[in-house]
Amino acid sequence: MKPIEGDFEMTLDTAFTGYADPALHAEGLYIGGKWEAGTGIPVTDPSTGKTLAEVPDASIEDAMRAVDAAEAAAAGWRRTPPRQRSEILRRWFTLMTDHAEELALLISIENGKALADARGEVAYAAEFFRWYAEEATRIGGEFRHTPSGAHNILVDHEPIGIAVLITPWNFPAAMATRKIGPALAAGCTVILKPASETPLTAYAMVRLGAEAGVPPGVLNVLTTSNPGPVTAAMLADPRVRKLSFTGSTGVGRTLLAEAAKTVVNCSMELGGNAPFVVFDDADLSAAIDGAMVAKMRNGGEACTAANRFYVQSGIHDAFVEGLTQRMAALKLGAGYDPDTQCGPMITTKAVDKIDRLVSEAKDRGARATTGGAPLDSSGYYYPPTVLENVPTDASLAHEEIFGPVAAIYRFETEEEAIRLANATEYGLAAYVYSRDIMRAMHVGRGIETGMVGINRGLMSDPAAPFGGAKQSGLGREGGVTGILEFMEPKYFAVEF
Ligand code: NAP
Repeated sequence: MKPIEGDFEMTLDTAFTGYADPALHAEGLYIGGKWEAGTGIPVTDPSTGKTLAEVPDASIEDAMRAVDAAEAAAAGWRRTPPRQRSEILRRWFTLMTDHAEELALLISIENGKALADARGEVAYAAEFFRWYAEEATRIGGEFRHTPSGAHNILVDHEPIGIAVLITPWNFPAAMATRKIGPALAAGCTVILKPASETPLTAYAMVRLGAEAGVPPGVLNVLTTSNPGPVTAAMLADPRVRKLSFTGSTGVGRTLLAEAAKTVVNCSMELGGNAPFVVFDDADLSAAIDGAMVAKMRNGGEACTAANRFYVQSGIHDAFVEGLTQRMAALKLGAGYDPDTQCGPMITTKAVDKIDRLVSEAKDRGARATTGGAPLDSSGYYYPPTVLENVPTDASLAHEEIFGPVAAIYRFETEEEAIRLANATEYGLAAYVYSRDIMRAMHVGRGIETGMVGINRGLMSDPAAPFGGAKQSGLGREGGVTGILEFMEPKYFAVEF
């Protein structure tokens, strides 16, 4: 483990200018195309614990004004030709790309992730605008003859209506564009509520959206310290027809119950607990490379993060040794320090949770081959950690770790690997490593998840349907189907 040097304090005033300047994006709520000044929610630099800026704290009344603004813009946006909607999204993509370095810095400052991860996120996030700029012009329908020959079936896809979009802090840009892109392409107007920990990135992107030509009211953004009642009020308004949420399974359950009251259509991207299965016949070095990506992208703070490493007996010791070496060599530090490979966690609460899970596993016989305890620092650091000999019923195997901890379990047979991989309420992502593609596909089919990486540690791609089975969610984002989450099919029975 490389030691932490100093307290990672960079001079904020000089390092972060232009779009990377936190103060620029703390100007206010964005409702009906206007900025409304306010304060109330402090934004913290997780590498130092210091406050960077304050953003406004929207009330229920503010949220209802955002619904009014979305309603006022709805008819015009719905009628805007798809080509025009497409060109606005495409300009937004270009602007994000032009400002990529500043946006990446801003993400690093407020989220803590390493600059390399933040750069990757900006590229990924912008790509949703390019992809949905293209999809906007390909919205189709369906025409069929009824088997009886009595009439014809014509299916149109209409924009579903005003959409409330709620996003988490771990991908502050990409989780927003993955919703805004398809919603605007479909012809919906939206209200985005970003996470309280990382609102500056959302506000920065809105600025670019306005510059790209998104009309007033089509996109509204508000931050609030009172997300439950504010969201409930918006969902209770009959003009709101869609909730697209990304976050924890616990909050997702609460929101599904809230949305049930007015039968609002929901897309839910929830928590994960991904298994990473390595067979004896895997390419060891490829498996370790893949494990580093699947585990350490975003410092482990990803819904797709590999949480449970199931490694077959014959390759187990070599895998533990190889992964330990790579994890121990990572440089920990402030995300915005270009040398950093693993940044701080988002909050002290996150560090405490990791500490609780690791301590419990160690008490029950797990051994840390590197890391294994929090660091003494004013920032929210937890070191890259590898644990072997973890009991399969440890809390670590069932709760989302959301941190740089690789828990390794030994297995013998294919059936055992599938059974262990499925022993969770989650079903988002899984990874399988084997040189035998038949076996890898068979195991991939047996694992109950929405996504499987075969000999690959990274699966996210705007062109692919992202989403989970079981309690990891409902619906899919990205790909050709992502836009349908924001459209209502309308069937016309036509006789002619
Ligand atoms: P979270 O606590 O569920 O918060 C997510 C968002 O919901 C935030 O904007 C939060 O606002 C808001 N929120 C919290 N309570 C709410 C309520 N009662 N009503 C309405 N909104 C509410 O999740 P998180 O800690 O930010 O993010 C981590 C979780 O997201 C992990 O479980 C991770 O797996 C999941 N995730 C899933 C995906 C996916 O695609 N499946 C992607 C990324 C992350 P505040 O910030 O103001 O509390």
